[in-house]
Amino acid sequence: SLTAGVVAVQGDVEEHAAAIERAAAARDREVTVREIRESGLVPDCDLLAMPGGESTTISRLVHSEGIAPEIRAHVEAGKPLLATCAGLIVASSEPNDDRVEELGLLDVGVERNAFGRQKDSFEAPLAVDGLADDDPYPAVFIRAPAIDDVAGGDAAVLASWDGRPVAVKQGPVVGTAFHPELTPDSRIHGLAFFENEAAAVPALEDAR
Ligand code: GLN
Repeated sequence: SLTAGVVAVQGDVEEHAAAIERAAAARDREVTVREIRESGLVPDCDLLAMPGGESTTISRLVHSEGIAPEIRAHVEAGKPLLATCAGLIVASSEPNDDRVEELGLLDVGVERNAFGRQKDSFEAPLAVDGLADDDPYPAVFIRAPAIDDVAGGDAAVLASWDGRPVAVKQGPVVGTAFHPELTPDSRIHGLAFFENEAAAVPALEDAR
């Protein structure tokens, strides 16, 4: 079966684990989900999620625990990473906040908490490129970042809201400003892990 890792130093870890299990089950794939709180586990993972939470905390802990270089190596090996909300901020190349040390896995800058105070939390029906069908995706935004500075890099915009990019893909990495783990709709996890032609997931017959 596949091994999935959820970076679990802080944030909404269990919801990602459940969403990964739903996406795998929909494809008759077996998956074992591991919570990543220390170094040494990521190298065994076929796919990885970095959740929402507090980007300054997640950034600090993935670096101090020695997980950051392993996440970079995972992506360099072409294995899929889904980075959501705070995870997207940490995965970006320009968090625009001195307290966040970027991983530089997506050629994007972000603006933290970009969608304004009265709209701290909202749900939006998003048109997302590359999903299994054309139904709008129910995207939950919670103090979400916006994505800036996509031009010139290799990141492709998959979805925008309010005129600003909120989902991008670059090679094996998918980043969303919203929280696909908080709705029963597992199409974003499906896209990131099973329908991303740029990402290497062991085929059914090759899986351990
Ligand atoms: N506002 C948070 C941050 O900047 C992200 C919010 C979230 O992950 N829901 O870290």
